[in-house]
Amino acid sequence: MKLSKMHLRTLREVPTEAEVPSHILLLRAGMIRKLASGIYGFMPMGWRSVKKIEEIIRQEMDRAGAQEILMSAVQPAELWEESGRWSAYGPELWRIKDRNGRDFCLGPTHEEIFTDIIRNDVSSYRQLPQNLYQIQHKYRDEARPRFGLMRSREFIMKDAYSFDKDQEGLDKSYEDMYNAYDRIFTRCGLTFRPVEADTGAIGGAGSHEFTALSEIGESEIAYCENCDMAATVERAACVDAAPDADDVEMLPMEEVHTPGTKTIEEVAGFLNIDKSKTIKALLFERYDDDGNVCGYVAAFVRGDRELNMIKLVNALDIPEHAIAFADEEKMGAATGSVGGFTGPTKLHDCTMVVDSELVWLKNMCAGACKEDHHLINVNYGRDYSADIITDLKVLQEGDPCPCCGAPVKHTRGIEVGQVFKLGTKYSEPMGATYMDENMDEHPIVMGCYGIGVTRTLAAVVEQHHDDDGIIWPIAVAPYHAIVTLVKPEDEVQSRVAEEIYNALMNAGVEVLLDDREERPGVKFKDADLLGIPIRITVGKMAPEGKVEYKLRRDAEKQELTIEEAIANAIATVRRESV
Ligand code: ATP
Ligand code: MG
Repeated sequence: MKLSKMHLRTLREVPTEAEVPSHILLLRAGMIRKLASGIYGFMPMGWRSVKKIEEIIRQEMDRAGAQEILMSAVQPAELWEESGRWSAYGPELWRIKDRNGRDFCLGPTHEEIFTDIIRNDVSSYRQLPQNLYQIQHKYRDEARPRFGLMRSREFIMKDAYSFDKDQEGLDKSYEDMYNAYDRIFTRCGLTFRPVEADTGAIGGAGSHEFTALSEIGESEIAYCENCDMAATVERAACVDAAPDADDVEMLPMEEVHTPGTKTIEEVAGFLNIDKSKTIKALLFERYDDDGNVCGYVAAFVRGDRELNMIKLVNALDIPEHAIAFADEEKMGAATGSVGGFTGPTKLHDCTMVVDSELVWLKNMCAGACKEDHHLINVNYGRDYSADIITDLKVLQEGDPCPCCGAPVKHTRGIEVGQVFKLGTKYSEPMGATYMDENMDEHPIVMGCYGIGVTRTLAAVVEQHHDDDGIIWPIAVAPYHAIVTLVKPEDEVQSRVAEEIYNALMNAGVEVLLDDREERPGVKFKDADLLGIPIRITVGKMAPEGKVEYKLRRDAEKQELTIEEAIANAIATVRRESV
């Protein structure tokens, strides 16, 4: 492709709405175009890279035995009602009506649709296992679309669904997908880590997220250097503090005057005790399907711990959008809570969720449910009880590893894919069953496997860029090479550039020829911004049959003969476009 003919508009300025490198650079390089908040289109260069990623995914999915299909992005509400997700999915589900008032949604994911296909087409064990996938636009009306392609409201996803006879079959399908994901992200040039994950709105038991390591990533990962524990912080189990010994006496509970001490820091400071001797209360209201408050929840963790919201909603078995921090006044009237001074002993008419370690810690300090007062020597069992006792803690950096006890580390990553063992979560309510050899009927055992194609593109840019622009790995670069013609009006330079351009094209190298009437500085800047892996500059040395050869990722330039430059470029592309 000749740049003089290409639809390309690069920007010198950093677009004001963009904060992270991938968003800034994809916009500046003219690869993506914003249409509305969280809605992007792809311009020629960007679209080529998207297609490269899609092709890698296709090859690896096909190799793993999956078959590509394409369903509609528009999904009838009835199927979502069958699975129970029409109400459970919440405001992220992009709902639409047709002219007759019939409800539909724009698919955020396709479990219902694929389960429907299989329940119609599969009846016998002989037809299993199967794995179907598609690559398609998905829609999620995200509360906070941000970082460009990273969290958008329309994005491209590869979603695959496996159907097996039993758990053993699912384990095998899951492993095959896990291994395919390993190859896909490796081929895309990402540094990534598979970690144990929570299952969120998709559901099921057992899941891994594939996270591309990055400072700007929204997934916080806890991992251990001593063993192979790695999990999202949401998911990671915590080790309870050692229980107080049996012979520690429960002292009489006492009310103390603690004026103005609303936070754990303040009360611990005022009473001169460690924060670990206090109980922190977090108060929530729950919503029904119509968004009305339908109950209150009080969660309690040790004062020096953080509450893990995902563990809380899992314990309550409700979706995340069905709970939020309570309106203090209204909750106070209904349950007896007092903002800043709430403790577990006097609350009523609310669900009490207590972190497991509190049960074994004695003589704690907690709010007295009375303005400016706390209680000391509060003990579980004697002074309060719980509706649910569970691990509610965030696994903090330095906490003991739940597997081996060594201090845990944290890092951040971008979730580029996730695999789930769904089991019969969809096949059971939707009646997707098969007959075994003895004509006994069983629900089909399912798995599902997603990759954010466009988020992967952004993750590649996050990991491969410098101040001047993108540095594409060859496998996902929009073009492999760029021939920069310094003076298009110079006949020799022009002829040499065309010669190299044609030779590379004939050898299957995807090549750009920058033949624009622009200053050389502009051309070099654009080539760097676009991140084309190989640059061959044809300038003053052209009459001697010499050109400048440079890899985008390296600082050095080489002076090579025309033939050497062509041969080098071809060899590099063959070696690296795996
Ligand atoms: P997140 O936790 O980031 O909201 P998710 O866990 O809800 O994502 P999945 O349902 O697992 O996402 O979707 C599969 C993949 O689709 C994700 O691993 C991610 O790469 C991609 N993805 C999900 N939401 C978005 C989005 N809003 N924009 C771009 N890609 C997304
Ligand atoms: Mg996910």
